[in-house]
Formats: sequence, structure tokens, C-alpha cells
Amino acid sequence: DLKTTTILVPGKLNPDTLETLEATFRVRRLPSRDPGELSEAERGEIRGIASAGPITAAMMQALPALEIVANFGVGYDGVDTAHAVANGITVTHTPDVLTDEVADTTIGLLLMTVRELPQADRYLRAGRWEAEGPYPLTATTLRGRSIGIMGLGRIGLAIAERLEPFGVSIAYHNRSRREDVPYAYHDSLIGLAGAVDTLIIAAPGGASTDKAVNGKVLEALGPEGVLINIGRGTTVDEPALIEALRAGAIRAAGLDVFEKEPSVPRALIEAPNTVLLPHVASASRHTRKAMGALVVENLTLWFSGAPLASPVPEAAEAGLTKRT
Ligand code: NDP
Repeated sequence: DLKTTTILVPGKLNPDTLETLEATFRVRRLPSRDPGELSEAERGEIRGIASAGPITAAMMQALPALEIVANFGVGYDGVDTAHAVANGITVTHTPDVLTDEVADTTIGLLLMTVRELPQADRYLRAGRWEAEGPYPLTATTLRGRSIGIMGLGRIGLAIAERLEPFGVSIAYHNRSRREDVPYAYHDSLIGLAGAVDTLIIAAPGGASTDKAVNGKVLEALGPEGVLINIGRGTTVDEPALIEALRAGAIRAAGLDVFEKEPSVPRALIEAPNTVLLPHVASASRHTRKAMGALVVENLTLWFSGAPLASPVPEAAEAGLTKRT
């Protein structure tokens, strides 16, 4: 019976999701994310987690009856999946339902960055249009740009498809080449950066991409370079980016994600050539509701003994796709 199955919600969760979750399961909220706040009996009752934040090995170890971690979000770098799978705990995430929203936002961020739209908005609001005349012509434009996408997966491909009518050239870097796309493949990130002037990061976070966009990659992108990051902040070496923006090694950056969210370096905030968003790429009511529905669907399927809708690849490979 799902109503007697306890699901832990550490930290904050989207209100629509919480409502559906509470209608289906018994929910235990834990705003502090500290399982030490729960009694031993309470910890022993928890069989699932629904979470939008990090889930560490220590958290899982504190919950002896835990079977499933349902991550709110497609990126699950915050969940210690290796520990989960090694201990027979499955992990699910929310692919596909957010792809279009994130790709839409990326195009917006790209245009904002190359045409300095937030800066122009601030100029008008400060009364400078009337006082000083037109906003200065932008040095950058999307016209004639060559775009490189790091991470041509679900979201990266949706970005590429949206870029096609803009008449820009498109290339990509993944660890492996895709046979189903017409875009030029580069087997290294630095190779891609050297071949394009606009680099869009749509790859996952985690160890394999940690600080991959370093000073050398930015230098290869070049003085006309624009960096757009909607993947994970950890993929960019932030001090190297700050220095590249300051020194003119690249022109501008549009960022939705940061290394230590929600803290953003002063130097990025004060730079004239950055556009900064507070991790909002999927953050519409519509899309967050769809993500939440998938979280609850995975938990419901699991505890009903049916195959999961969207286990993470590591859990699928370990055969943790159905409760046995
Ligand atoms: P997919 O798994 O469909 O795509 C990921 C792509 O990245 C794949 O093409 C993969 O190809 C490539 N990739 C993975 N690791 C590396 C690596 N080390 N070097 C180069 N390429 C790599 O995921 P989605 O498109 O659904 O999501 C991508 C990411 O976007 C999420 O993991 C998340 O971090 C981020 N995201 C951010 C959001 C935001 O709010 N800003 C919202 C949603 C997602 P290959 O395996 O061949 O390397």
C-alpha cells in the first residue's frame, strides 16, 4: 500500500510535486537534509527519497530500508549513484520532459549574451537612452557565428535543432561520435573550441567533465569567443573564465550554472560582458510540474512492482529497473 510507504523529502521540493507526492505516499520532510534529526525508528521507515539536491553515501547509509532515490532533474551528479547501485538502491531522474524548456532558455541566453540585451535593458531603465542617446552598437552578433556544443545529447540536440534556422554552423564534442546527426564531430573539447567561436556546454557535471573548460580551452575559443553554460558550473574552471573575460581572451559569457550555487563570484557579477541567470533553464511552472510528475511516477511504479519509467543509466545497467 503506497499510503503506508514513507518517502523522505530532504530540503526544498517544487510545491506541485510535493502535493502529488503527499496525495500518493506518506511523506516525511527534512528541511535541514540532516538524517541525524530523525529518530532511529523514523529512519528505519524511509523507503524512498524524492529530492532536488545532493544525496550522499552518508545519507543513504543512515536509511537502512532505503530502496530508491528519485532525483528531481535530469542531471544527477549530486546523487552518489555508485554508492546507491553498489548497495542495491535504484536511482531515477527526469529526462526528456525538460529538454524543450532548457533548449528554449539556452537560445534566449545566447541571444541575450551576443546582443547584450540585459545591458541594453539596464541602459534604458537607468534613463541613459534619453540622456545619452542610443545604446552603443554591440561588438558581437549571432551573424556569422560558428557554434560548438559540448554534450550533444537530448538537450544539446534540441539546441542544435533550434539553431539551424538561425543560419549558423554547428559542430559538437561528445566522448563518442553520433551517427544520426549531420554536425561536425570533434573528439576533443579543445579541438572543438579551436574550430568555433561560440561554445555551448550542455554536458552533465561530475568527475568526467570537472573543470573541462579551462584556460587553454578558452584561449582556443579565441578573442571573439562566447561561452554559454547551461550544463553544470563544475564543468567550467571559474577563476580561468574570470581571467579570460577580464583579459579579453574571450568576449563574453552567458551562464545559468555556477561552481558553488547560489554563490556567484563578485568578478562575474561586476564584469560588463557576462549575462548571469540563477539556474532557471527548466524553471517554468509547466516544466517543473512535468518533472515532478515523473518523480512521483517512478516512485509509484517502483513500489507497485512495475518497471521504472526513467532509471539513470547506471541503475539500468545494474538491473535495478523493477522491484523484486
Ligand atoms: P544526455 O545524457 O542526453 O546528454 C549528455 C551528453 O553529454 C551526451 O551527448 C554525452 O555524450 C555528453 N557527455 C557526457 N559526458 C561527457 C564528457 N565527459 N565529455 C564530453 N561529452 C560528454 O543528457 P541531457 O541532454 O538530458 O542533459 C544534459 C545535462 O544538462 C544534465 O546532465 C544536466 O547537468 C544539465 N541540465 C541543466 C539544466 C539547467 O537548469 N541549467 C536543466 C537540465 C539539464 P557521450 O556519452 O558520448 O560523451
